[in-house]
Amino acid sequence: MSEIDTLKDLIEKSGRIVFLGGAGVSTESGIPDFRSENGIFKAISEYGYPPETLLSRSFFDRHPDIFFKYYRGLLMNGDAKPNRAHLALAELERRGKLTAVATQNIDGLHTDAGSKTVFELHGSIKRNYCMKCHKFYDDKFISESDGVPRCSCGGIVKPDVVLYEEGLDYDTLNGAVTHIMRADMLIVGGTSLQVYPAAGLIDYYRGDRLVLINKSKTPYDRYANLVINDSIGKVLGEAVGIE
Ligand code: ZN
Repeated sequence: MSEIDTLKDLIEKSGRIVFLGGAGVSTESGIPDFRSENGIFKAISEYGYPPETLLSRSFFDRHPDIFFKYYRGLLMNGDAKPNRAHLALAELERRGKLTAVATQNIDGLHTDAGSKTVFELHGSIKRNYCMKCHKFYDDKFISESDGVPRCSCGGIVKPDVVLYEEGLDYDTLNGAVTHIMRADMLIVGGTSLQVYPAAGLIDYYRGDRLVLINKSKTPYDRYANLVINDSIGKVLGEAVGIE
């Protein structure tokens, strides 16, 4: 049996699938991974700081002007569209096979693709709130404003993304954990599983249908029931029948 047929078979047998996804899901929509070698080089050569510093809470508080310049240029991808991975996962949820998507990506593409239960562990660029009065602003407001985006009340409008030095949102993390514990199949894709929280979340899964889909090997490969080293969009697209 081919890897895709094995994956199809596992999906067929399951009714409470959870997907846990990393940066690789977004890069296939043309969104660069700022943690990649090239992303780190670009940040240091253009801004003088590595991404972890530029995207830290203390840097945001000290240099909001530089933060937003970097943030707009790198993290906001207005024309990015969901790829076959996003569409396949939304389709699995519609079919009643998948209960949740947990993602480390902040681009909101799972929601754009039609997924309903999405735990955005690192937040979303689509949600932004005034730090003073908590008024909501969309991503367009941030991308179209100049300098530090300001609310009508004068407060700074901060993206609802988890910066370095900030903790994860408790309810979001708890929701992901609860769904993974109840899952009868866990598909992990587009992550090398070397960074928190994905590497920690996988430990909550107790079933025997753990599938890892990633272009390169991961430290968890030996625990998985199926490992596919290929494009996440191609694999999920073929397994679910998304063109
Ligand atoms: Zn305000």
